[in-house]
Amino acid sequence: MKDGVVFSGTTACGKKIALTFDDGPHPRKTPEILDILDKYGIKATFFVVGTNAEYYPHLIKEEAERGHEIANHSYSHSRLSEFTEEQIKEEIERTDALIRKASGVTPTLFRPPEGKYSENIVKIATAMGKSTVIWTVDTLDWAKTPADVIAENIKNNVTYGSIILFHDFTSKQAHTTEALEIIIPYLQTQGYEFVTVSELIKGM
Ligand SMILES: [Zn+2]
Repeated sequence: MKDGVVFSGTTACGKKIALTFDDGPHPRKTPEILDILDKYGIKATFFVVGTNAEYYPHLIKEEAERGHEIANHSYSHSRLSEFTEEQIKEEIERTDALIRKASGVTPTLFRPPEGKYSENIVKIATAMGKSTVIWTVDTLDWAKTPADVIAENIKNNVTYGSIILFHDFTSKQAHTTEALEIIIPYLQTQGYEFVTVSELIKGM
């Protein structure tokens, strides 16, 4: 934790790590990701965008029902640094309301679009009862990175308490699901336990 911003858990987490999925839900990819997570019996955290939550509330409900954490990733996925304090609050509140309506849960985590935060954004999120969460490993799935390259990148960088950034959907050429099929069983054989971000940072 640095100035109220969470990048990862600590070594005290032991071999716990958190997979995070941004920008969803997506009607085709999110169900695929949920099935892979179930197949390996693991829990993850979905940083959802309000506009998508509005279109696909049933997927938010399903994420929650299948035991995953739902977190706030703003309403419009805009550059918040150009917004007023009121606008930033509205971005967070509107998305909270949509998530609450779909799943009954109010998120306690916030990730600003592109992970771009400022002291002001963190202060606003904190006042709204949310930890601002970034990541330690960017899988670069958004850059159409091949699945084996994503897997290598994670293998080389994962450590105790890592928060790993994936996306529900960024482009048709993304290899997110193929990479998950490689990396999850590998990390399980290495003794890593997959938990939600709230579980990972509990007590920090
Ligand atoms: Zn995003």
